[in-house]
Amino acid sequence: MDRIGPLAARLRAELGPDRVISDRQELRTYECDGLTHYRVVPALAVLPRDHTELARTVRACADAGVPFVARGSGTGLSGGALPHADGVLVVTSRMRAIVEVAPDDERAVVEPGVINVQVSRAAAPFGYYYAPDPSSQQICSIGGNVAENSGGAHCLKYGFTTNHVTGATVVTPDGEVVRLGGRAPDTPGYDLLGAFVGSEGTLGIATEVTVRLVRAPETIRTLLAAFHTTDQAGAATSAIIAAGVVPAAVEMMDALAIEAAEAAVNCGYPPGAGAVLIVELDGPAAEVRAQFAQVTALCEENDAFELRIAADDAERALFWKGRKSAFAAVGRISPDYIVQDGVIPRTALPQVLRRIGEVSAEHGVRVANVFHAGDGNLHPLVLFDDAVPGEAERAEQVSGAILDLCIEHGGSITGEHGVGVDKARYMPRMFTADDLDTMQLVRCAFDPDGLSNPGKVFPTPRLCGEVPGRRKGTHPAQEAGLAEIF
Ligand SMILES: Cc1cc2nc3c(=O)[nH]c(=O)nc-3n(C[C@H](O)[C@H](O)[C@H](O)COP(=O)(O)OP(=O)(O)OC[C@H]3O[C@@H](n4cnc5c(N)ncnc54)[C@H](O)[C@@H]3O)c2cc1C
Repeated sequence: MDRIGPLAARLRAELGPDRVISDRQELRTYECDGLTHYRVVPALAVLPRDHTELARTVRACADAGVPFVARGSGTGLSGGALPHADGVLVVTSRMRAIVEVAPDDERAVVEPGVINVQVSRAAAPFGYYYAPDPSSQQICSIGGNVAENSGGAHCLKYGFTTNHVTGATVVTPDGEVVRLGGRAPDTPGYDLLGAFVGSEGTLGIATEVTVRLVRAPETIRTLLAAFHTTDQAGAATSAIIAAGVVPAAVEMMDALAIEAAEAAVNCGYPPGAGAVLIVELDGPAAEVRAQFAQVTALCEENDAFELRIAADDAERALFWKGRKSAFAAVGRISPDYIVQDGVIPRTALPQVLRRIGEVSAEHGVRVANVFHAGDGNLHPLVLFDDAVPGEAERAEQVSGAILDLCIEHGGSITGEHGVGVDKARYMPRMFTADDLDTMQLVRCAFDPDGLSNPGKVFPTPRLCGEVPGRRKGTHPAQEAGLAEIF
């Protein structure tokens, strides 16, 4: 039965023809997100202009029983916004209104398609900014950040997106509009907003988000420290945190990542470095001054062979330019690469980095490391050439082995890029079948028909109408009389 034709006709009638794309060539624009080796052309793309149009779109999908996938800017690196071939892609890029900046409440209310950095720009005249800063902050959307619970360089001190979202208006998968949280720091009852943040578009679509604004710090000081080895840089990171200093950011790049960044943006990092750390402190001037002295001493004690202190904003920007452009820069030294994302306890950094080096040598695949060292959030870039037979497979093996390493060391298969379609198959390495079913019970409460971003996060088939149906047998929570499977 053709469900898409009548659905497209309804959406055109309700929203206007310019909101609906059905031409296959045009739909190709949306066939992938930042993880380009998964490509699916959606059956239809809808670009609502406001909250009401988005709610109508979801309602129409629910009535037709057609799956839908939300897409913000499509910069995701786990295939979270990968379209469904028989479904609708709901693109929020036309929903870019900053509804309100309320410095007195330290809040901003924005539409989901608003670009991350725009929130800070809108708050700047009031002396505020939005703290979570993914390296993609110039292009990624707040809706995507909320869905991925995105992090960034400054999340070490300020926390991830979940710590900065206090409210959201959400269209649930049956088209109902609900308000989760609000302006207050906390609300009574279950933390449904907490469940929504990081749910990767599987619980519905956010149409408006209330975020926390943070006061711009009095002072920012930034240090670039060069080491001969990643062991030394890892040890310096642990020493800084162990000393009770909480920098705004501690970022690390290894030799290969530095080589790529130099080739792309000429950032002028110290020659011969096996690793560099960018350490940034912010806050009251006196506190920053005292802690900065501590940080430089700790880097020296851990064998930093060169320390550079940013003299002004231009030099600070140059330090960051190398780091922020590193993912793209790797394209200069390798035709293809996988951006991996895993997290480990910070203290395990030296041994995990060493082991990544060994795994890379064993498989003959180069790995460049560029990551948020302060919170143990790794981004190994696994380089390969798709034109060389077998290299892509070896890169995949290295990539999987790195995730196993993260789990072995008490970490997780994703730090901030989400599970998406790419890592769903790794979920059983971390969670038992019962764990996964328990998570699915939450999903079922929002989305009993499994229409919202199906095939993501959970390895299929699981519960809730994800083909071919329910888990066999009873869930332990059911046996204990604690829950019912829908
Ligand atoms: C160069 C580069 C650097 C990056 N650096 C970082 C980094 O430092 N930290 C980090 O965390 N990530 C980083 N990322 C990953 C990516 O930018 C983030 O995951 C970002 O949050 C995705 O936002 P987006 O708008 O592009 O979302 P999309 O890719 O469009 O979608 C991501 C997910 O969100 C869902 N979604 C989108 N909008 C909504 C909505 N309104 N309601 C519900 N679900 C929705 C989608 O269905 C999908 O599951 C980087 C990516 C690139 C390319």
